[in-house]
Amino acid sequence: MSADTVIATSALTKRYREVLAVDVLDLDVRRGEIYGFLGRNGAGKTTTIRMLLGLIRPTSGEVSVLGARIASGRTDVFAHVGYLVESASAYPNLTVRENLDIQRRLTGAPGTRTDDAIDRLGLAPVADRRAGRLSLGNKQRLSLARALLHAPQVLVLDEPANALDPAGIVEVRELLRTLADRDGVTVFMSSHILAEVAHLADRIGIIHDGRLLEELDREELHAKARAYVEIAAKDISRAESLLLGSGFSHVERGGDGTLRVFDAENRAPEIARLLVGAGLELTQLTPSREDLEAYFLRLTGGEAVTETASPAEGSAA
Ligand code: ATP
Repeated sequence: MSADTVIATSALTKRYREVLAVDVLDLDVRRGEIYGFLGRNGAGKTTTIRMLLGLIRPTSGEVSVLGARIASGRTDVFAHVGYLVESASAYPNLTVRENLDIQRRLTGAPGTRTDDAIDRLGLAPVADRRAGRLSLGNKQRLSLARALLHAPQVLVLDEPANALDPAGIVEVRELLRTLADRDGVTVFMSSHILAEVAHLADRIGIIHDGRLLEELDREELHAKARAYVEIAAKDISRAESLLLGSGFSHVERGGDGTLRVFDAENRAPEIARLLVGAGLELTQLTPSREDLEAYFLRLTGGEAVTETASPAEGSAA
């Protein structure tokens, strides 16, 4: 835990009878960062978030937010925390503006904040519509607006991209980026969509079966999707020494007897000239890129996830 720590968990554990939903989780989320909490369905994300917010009690372990230990009945820290959890629901018979205004008054935030939140979440066209009549995407926007209303220092968001259309996902992504960069807001967000966190998060924790499998920053994650040139040749050892001797410093053996030459983007022709020029019989030369999604699936040991962010999300790489 550092001076910059905003959310810390220590050996946080939650057991439901035979299900170990969260298993000795140590998190350290720092001021001003966007932390992406990534895991497949059932990995333990929601359970963790509920414990962060004091909505359920841990079986063991501790949570602290902004230096205050979260315990049941303790609410003072929440003056500085905004959150979005699945169960967050608005008053269905009140309009968007009325819902926000009630919340604003409860938190003592100034009157201008309601319009500010409406603007930030693009809710102006539906501001006078009853919350119960909103589309799922606009309900999600309203929930996000409520989370932001009191200008919190920390935002804890469970699957904020849920139900948003591709344009909405991009808008929310930009909003969160601005909040973190301009206002120093710390964002802890869960997602089961790799592309979502790969685009946005500064740091990513991958949770599976309640355990933190890996923690990486964005650069490290993207490094998992490095570009390389795959080579197969009759004499692979000679190909390897030729490449290493010609300034290709990052050459790895593939499991299937091929060579992978990294940091060689756009250098396939040069590689071909080098090897063929040295009399090597080249049987394959393919520019490729590691697949982030495949990496995530390999790490979490599963089959392909059928749900994707949206066509507009494209590749995470
Ligand atoms: P999803 O993306 O599907 O919401 P998640 O990563 O948020 O998944 P959790 O909802 O935290 O996962 O669930 C983790 C595990 O704990 C799952 O096996 C789930 O079935 C179990 N679980 C969660 N809540 C309860 C509960 N109240 N009682 C019993 N088991 C539970």
